[in-house]
Amino acid sequence: MTNLLPEMAEIWQQTLNWQPTVQQQAQFQRLYELILEGNRQLNLTRITDPQEFWEKHLWDSLRGIVPLLSANFSSASPAIIDIGTGAGFPGVPVAITVPNCTITLLDSTRKKITFLDNILSELALTNAKTLVGRAEEIGQHPQHRQAYDIALIRAVGAASVCAEYTLPLLKQRGLAIIYRGNWTEDETTALQNAVNQLGGVIESIEKFTTPLSHSIRHCLYLRKVANTPDNFPRAVGIATQKSL
Ligand code: SAH
Repeated sequence: MTNLLPEMAEIWQQTLNWQPTVQQQAQFQRLYELILEGNRQLNLTRITDPQEFWEKHLWDSLRGIVPLLSANFSSASPAIIDIGTGAGFPGVPVAITVPNCTITLLDSTRKKITFLDNILSELALTNAKTLVGRAEEIGQHPQHRQAYDIALIRAVGAASVCAEYTLPLLKQRGLAIIYRGNWTEDETTALQNAVNQLGGVIESIEKFTTPLSHSIRHCLYLRKVANTPDNFPRAVGIATQKSL
């Protein structure tokens, strides 16, 4: 028996003012099946129930970025990078939903990237490409540094680490979106200093609940307002060991 993803058209409409087309729904379904299959070989995700997959992987991935794309990027083709994409979240749902963006899916684990290459070809997603590497190295690479309009990062590390991975990759005025569960004001205060050192500002922090299980989520939006000093990101592992 195949696992069928719910459609949730009304919830999409109410929460994101958007609904998947028939083709996008088919791509979501195929993505889900390929991840269930891939889970047998690779440890991709603990979330396998169809409702939970819909909420925690599809809806959660899109909630942080889709509202802002319709407001600011409707005619442009933003260059997006998803850092530590793992099994492709939030990047693959974004590639499916926002066909006019180009998205780079970065992960340090080659096996996950090989898996994603197959996903992209199965879903015929021509606006996404993969990259094997560490955020610390890619952030110093001339081809990638200051090259992106938006950097996404979910479940990769502490917020200051996420700031150090994302901000160097952004163009001036680019936006980093850090996906979090719980978040406190004290954490905002602590993050401020790291973000300043990296040439960014905390533009906004949004709190919301997921539509099925009502779990708490936060998205932190960091705007790049100045050049990131050349020494950031620091060498592999330093951001996590000596956080800013
Ligand atoms: N973003 C996905 C996966 C989170 S797991 C999701 O939310 O489901 C964290 C992933 O980040 C792992 O796949 C790991 O290989 C990758 N990762 C951790 N540190 C990294 C680094 N410095 N550079 C690139 N990828 C990294």
